[in-house]
Amino acid sequence: MTDFAATRARFQLPAGVIYLDGNSLGPLPVAAAARVARTVEAEWGEMLITGWNKAGWMEMPARLGDRIGRLIGAEPGTVVLGDTLSIKVYQALASALEMNPSRRVILSDSGNFPSDLYMAEGLCRTLGDGYRLKTVAPEEVEAAIDETVAVTMITEVDYRTGRKHDMARLTARAHAAGALAVWDLAHSAGAIPVDLAGAGADFAVGCTYKYLNSGPGGPAFIYVAPRHAEAARPALSGWLGHEAPFAFDLNYRPGRGIERMRVGTPPVLQMAALEAALDVWDMAAMADVRARSIALTERFIAGVEAACPALTLASPRNPAERGSQVSFRHPEGYAIMQALIARGVIGDFRAPDILRFGFTPLYIGEAEVDGAVAVLAEVMDGALWDRPEYKTRARVT
Ligand SMILES: *Cc1c(COP(=O)(O)O)cnc(C)c1O
Repeated sequence: MTDFAATRARFQLPAGVIYLDGNSLGPLPVAAAARVARTVEAEWGEMLITGWNKAGWMEMPARLGDRIGRLIGAEPGTVVLGDTLSIKVYQALASALEMNPSRRVILSDSGNFPSDLYMAEGLCRTLGDGYRLKTVAPEEVEAAIDETVAVTMITEVDYRTGRKHDMARLTARAHAAGALAVWDLAHSAGAIPVDLAGAGADFAVGCTYKYLNSGPGGPAFIYVAPRHAEAARPALSGWLGHEAPFAFDLNYRPGRGIERMRVGTPPVLQMAALEAALDVWDMAAMADVRARSIALTERFIAGVEAACPALTLASPRNPAERGSQVSFRHPEGYAIMQALIARGVIGDFRAPDILRFGFTPLYIGEAEVDGAVAVLAEVMDGALWDRPEYKTRARVT
């Protein structure tokens, strides 16, 4: 059994704050500050450029990729870190499209995060030749997978509502129709059990600064199924994805396996923070995290529905159909969230009307759930949100 009191002690959480936004930016693992300081002072400071060899910086993208792989059911040697998620979406899509050359359609859904859709549109524009993005409602994805679809690009857990797609089922459907399946795990990795190998996913991508707690700007990851590892051609063919980067050949030859999905110089300081964050994950079993996440989200929904009748549940009621977040709708959602944040309960707002709360068992328990419900009830009962200063939109919501 996972000791959640012990995992919680590994995070620095400001006093007086109930943090329900680890789905957007995970909090600071206590050990990360010292780990980053050591990388700065003892490695960068003392070793200078020799750190790439002596401190193992060059191996970090694959070494830490393997540690993330264990959390998402990936085979060893199939995950590598680098860049941001938007870039990794582009890379996965471009390689997958090239592997299905007789088809032109990328299928996604309207619940996907806009950046994924924008990257797909940009890629289609660059490719020309009839390539296009087709977007359907989330519940229509399965029926829309037909013989025209080259690649499905689905985010498993909807960033707004928390609705979860059935990865195994949609992947099987894609394969039956002759399409490849690209999965975005932004709201899955570290949130719910994922079994990429079991589901037969072709490509997957995700970020580390949400549930994995690597800190702002932490690198993304990409997974390529072993059966495609030597066939997938990288569209972003940077030097560190080359078979022999330090041969400085004028011609590109893809590196071995997942190494080819590297692009350029990796973010060493961010990876140091991620390494400390992953040490906490070594203390946790994903099945325990999931069970506790469900208990916490069920408790939150019951509490809010009893105390705040003006809020409408936007997440699936069945816990098996949602990730590790709960969302409610209200036309004044933005102002309500600002009033909550002013009182130390941090969630976030997603346009047009979604109040979003992430539940992260590594550091959130029943007391935080009950505390958040009590503050939300107070804000709603007294219309405490109805103040001009809560209605001015900040740049980041
Ligand atoms: C958070 C998120 C992103 C963010 O992409 P970055 O390039 O890391 O800014 C992209 N896609 C999805 C589905 C997300 O949830």
